[in-house]
Amino acid sequence: MEIHRRLPERRPYPAPRKNVLLLSCMDLRLIDDICGFMDGDNLENRYDQLVFAGASLGVMQPRHAAWRDVFFQHLDIAVQLHDIRDVYIMEHRNCGAYAHFLGPEFEYPDTAEGELAEEEEHRKHAKSLRDAIMAHCADRRDSGGDPELWDIHVRCFLMDLRGSVRMLITEGENYDF
Ligand SMILES: [Zn+2]
Repeated sequence: MEIHRRLPERRPYPAPRKNVLLLSCMDLRLIDDICGFMDGDNLENRYDQLVFAGASLGVMQPRHAAWRDVFFQHLDIAVQLHDIRDVYIMEHRNCGAYAHFLGPEFEYPDTAEGELAEEEEHRKHAKSLRDAIMAHCADRRDSGGDPELWDIHVRCFLMDLRGSVRMLITEGENYDF
C-alpha cells in the first residue's frame, strides 16, 4: 500500500504520539523526500535520525559488525533522552549499499519482477532488524527497564526514487524471535 503524505486515511498505522527514531540510508538523492515524508507524518522537529549506508542492511551486515552496536547504543540514548516510542526504518529502491554489501546481483532491473525481488530483499533485512529491536526492548524490560518506555513500535517503509513510500511489513505481523 502506498502511503499518502497528507491523508491520514491513506496512512495504515496510528500517528506517533511521541518522538520517533528514523533510520535511513546515506543516499543523497532522497534527503529532501525523507524530510517531506516525516513532515507529512506531523513529525517536523520530532525525530532523531540515524544514517547508515543500506539502512537495515547496514545495521545488520557482518562486514562492519560495530555498526550494529552503534545503532543499539544510539537507540538506548534516544529512548532515554527523547522519549521515542516509534522506530521508522526507511529503506529505498536502487540502493547502492545493497550491491556494495551483497554483490552486483543485488542491483535490480526496472521491471515488475526486478521491483518485486528488490522489495522482498528489503523486507527481509528490515524484518531482521525489526525483530532485533523488539528483542532488545524485551531485554531492557526484563532487566528492570521501565515497561512503558521500552514499549517501542517499529514501522518499515520502502521509498522509491520519486519519494513515494509504501509499507514493507503489514502491521500486526508476528515477530520472529
Ligand atoms: Zn541506499
